[in-house]
Parts: sequence; C-alpha cells; structure tokens
Amino acid sequence: MTDTPLFAAREPVFPRKVQGTFRRLKWIVMILTLGIYYLTPWIRWDRGPNLPDQAVLVDLAGRRFYFFWIEIWPHEFYFVAGLLIMAGLGLFLFTSALGRVWCGYTCPQTVWTDLFIATERWIEGDRNARVRLWKAKWDARKIRLRLTKYLVWALIGMATGGAWVFYFADAPALARDLVAGQAQPVAYITIAVLTFTTVLMGGIAREQVCIYMCPWPRIQGAMMDEGTLTVGYRDWRGEPRGKKHENAEGDCIDCMACVNVCPMGIDIREGQQLACITCALCIDACDDVMDKIGKPRGLIDYLALSDAPPADDTTQRAAVVPLGVTNKADSVSVPVGGAPAPAPNAGPAPIITTAARDWQPQPVWKHILRPRTIVYTVLWGAIGLALLFALFIRPEIDMTVAAVRNPQFVTLSDGSIRNAYDIRLRNKHGEARDFHVSLTSDATLRIGLEGRDDLTVPVPPDSTLLQRVYVTARPDDAAATEERTDLRFWVEDLISGERTYGDSQFFGKEPE
Ligand code: SF4
Ligand code: SF4
Repeated sequence: MTDTPLFAAREPVFPRKVQGTFRRLKWIVMILTLGIYYLTPWIRWDRGPNLPDQAVLVDLAGRRFYFFWIEIWPHEFYFVAGLLIMAGLGLFLFTSALGRVWCGYTCPQTVWTDLFIATERWIEGDRNARVRLWKAKWDARKIRLRLTKYLVWALIGMATGGAWVFYFADAPALARDLVAGQAQPVAYITIAVLTFTTVLMGGIAREQVCIYMCPWPRIQGAMMDEGTLTVGYRDWRGEPRGKKHENAEGDCIDCMACVNVCPMGIDIREGQQLACITCALCIDACDDVMDKIGKPRGLIDYLALSDAPPADDTTQRAAVVPLGVTNKADSVSVPVGGAPAPAPNAGPAPIITTAARDWQPQPVWKHILRPRTIVYTVLWGAIGLALLFALFIRPEIDMTVAAVRNPQFVTLSDGSIRNAYDIRLRNKHGEARDFHVSLTSDATLRIGLEGRDDLTVPVPPDSTLLQRVYVTARPDDAAATEERTDLRFWVEDLISGERTYGDSQFFGKEPE
C-alpha cells in the first residue's frame, strides 16, 4: 500500500515565454488548425440549384453530410466509419513513431490552452509578472487585468462555439439571424455551452484535463515501445547537474528553464511522465541555454529508450549526438544500463570507455521506418484506397427493399396471392428523374405500383421517395403455392439508363 493521494490540489502553472524551432512549429500548427476550424464553414461550393452552396455542411434536417464535391447519405455511413478507422490508425502510426505528438501539437485541448496562455501572457505579462499578480492582493489593477483576460477568453470561446454551429446551417444566413436575434434557440444555447466549456477546459482547467480527464495518455502508453521517439532528458550527459561553482560535471546547469516553460508544470529530468504531452517546449528552452553556455544542443531532445548508450560495468563518459544534430559534444556522463540518474553533484568524475565514446544513437528514420509503423501505414493506405474506390463507383441512384410481412400475403377475391413491398428510391442527381420499377424471377409474377397506372415513379432532385409495390401470383402460377420464391426488383433511371436492384422473396399460400 502507498500513501500517495489519488488527487492533488492544483498548483497553478505559469509557463514562461520561449522561442525556438518547436515553438515556431506549434505556432504554425495553431494557426493552421484554428484557421481551418474557424474559416471552413464560410467556404462556398456550387452544387447547382436546389442544393446548399456551403462546402462543408452537416444538414441534419436533410439527413445529409456535404464535404466539397462529396455528399454522404445516411445509408452511406460506412464512409464516416471508414474515416474514423483511418483516424484511429493514423493515431496508432504517429504514436508508435513519434509518441504523443498528437497531444503536443494538434489536440484541440492543447491548441486552445496554448492560445489562452498566449493571451494571458499578452494581458498579464510573462511568468514572473503573472506569479506576482497571482500573489498580489486584489486591487483595481488586478481586477482590471483579470476582467480583460476573461473577456478576451470569452470572445475566443464564443468564436469557437460560433464556428461549431456554422457547420450545421448556412453560415452567412445563420450569422445574420444570430446578430438579429432571430436564430433558433438551440444555436444560442450551443454557442453558450461551447463558450463556457472552452474557457473552462482551455483557460482554467488546462493541464488538469490532460492529467485527470483524458483517457488518451493511458492508452498511448500501450502503443509506445522502446523504439518510439519521445521528448526525454539525456541524463547520462546532464548529470550530475549543478551550477559551475558547485563543481558539477554534467551539462545540466540546473537553471530550471525547462521546468519554467513547461505548460504541464513538470520536470522532464525526472524521466518520462504521464503528464508530459511532448510539446517539446523544454527542448527549445534547454537548447537556448546550451547555446549560451557553449555546449551542444540536445540535452533535452526527441529520443528513444533504445537509444541509451551501451551498458558497462562502470559509470561512463561518452560523446552523445542529439538526434539529427552533428556531434560537437564534449564528454558526458552515462549511467549504466539506463539506471536512475545520480543525484545532483553526486560522486567523482566518471571514466571514459571506448565503447561509450564510440556510441551513436540510431538515425531518426530508423525510429520512424520500423515494421510496426510500416504495417500501420499499409493498413491506413489500404482503407483509404478502398474508401476512394467505393466513392467513385457508388451509383447516383439507389434503392432498398423492405418486404411488408404483416400479413405475409393476402388472398384476393379471384384466388390470386399478393405480397406487398416498400421500396425506397434515392435520386442523388440535382434534378428530378423518372425511375422505372420492374422485377425478375424464375416464377411468373406480376408487379404494380400503389397509386400509379404504370411502373414509372418521378423522384424529386436529391431526395428519397418511398413507394409501395404489389407483386401478385395468379392461382395457377407456381409461386402462388410455393412457400418462398426468390425475386429481384430493378430500378432504372430513364434518362441516364443507370440501373440498380434489390433482392427479396415472395411468400405463397402452401396447399392445404
Ligand atoms: S534547461 Fe537544460 S540546463 Fe537548464 S535545468 Fe533544464 S536540462 Fe538543465
Ligand atoms: S516536459 Fe517538456 S515536452 Fe513534456 S509537457 Fe513539459 S515542456 Fe512539454
């Protein structure tokens, strides 16, 4: 049994501003992802008359999903299922190659938290100023700064909720209605709920969501292995840590820059932690420090467990190459076989061994191109190709048949046996089409349409139509006394000549 509590009260985190390669990459990803999210509903796409001109639209009333030139009907939900499977496999692929790269760069929680921290820094100042403000007594300045911050956060949250509702209706028309106060109540309620939850999750709860609410960190642990690249600290190079005057031998000068920039408030030098979202900001912070003290970059870096220097029977010193960086390293300390890092300033200077000095980490491509990642890529590509193939061969007309089995058949006054069927006809064209309905069977059967003199059904553009169909066997036809007779309904578009079919069965009256 351990006395470790399951929940610790939140210690506020005040991440310091940092600059560098990964910070720039995160800005680019943030602009791209938020830009796509906020702007997509405003893109127009001409589908012709009678159809919405919004490029991406979830039309709940029309039971349709529009994505540029693709139109998904409810019975084609397998496309959405396929895309979800591809998204899952994509996550497996990226996680096995690059660890929690989704969490660090593209997860909405990370992106919005990053945005909220940036606006907080803009309004309240960098880390030290924010710490001072947090400790300060409430006065006019503190109230003004806090109110300004929450107002800006609320506007961001409102834009987030607003963008969401625009995916479900014509965006310009809905925007006008929202401003005029004439939109549906559900639109206002959705925006209010999303404004509140965005501010709560991204602005206030922040890292608590990742640590306590999100199941993904636990799942990802199972997808990573010793070959996975993730953000880590080269303890064999950094330890024993300490300031120069403390006679430390490792490259880490214990400046805490990596801890101060961490949005999760953790110390990566303590090893891999569930809270680490691998945002890589600590890499930028430490690289900056290494530049200033004239040491090679990469003390904190993307690295894999399998990249530990060779085990030896003594503590060693080795030349370590940061992944993808030219080796300019001085000698550094290496704990044996991945053993815990020595305590800061512990022990005498370690010994250099030839094996450790010659040791080089695997190149990055070897971590990415592994049997496991290749299998994921092949599966991902195969599903993608299958979906594309299904998309291009799907017909513009479609039908489903449902036999009416209550009752199974009726006996007409002349002794004929009649079965009824409901046929749902789908016209995916932008104009009305006449569909001709017929049937084929080994037995002799007659077909008729309820409410129509002939076998032609006009179906309006881009819609479905339910048609009751009757099939009859005369008393002397074999099907009248057969328990079941197979039959196939055909539907033909009289303009394009496209055909499709659906199978069913005819139930006869067994002889007594
Ligand atoms: S930023 Fe680098 S040098 Fe500074 S404490 Fe972190 S690991 Fe050590
Ligand atoms: S330890 Fe580094 S990579 Fe992990 S969350 Fe903190 S700053 Fe990001």
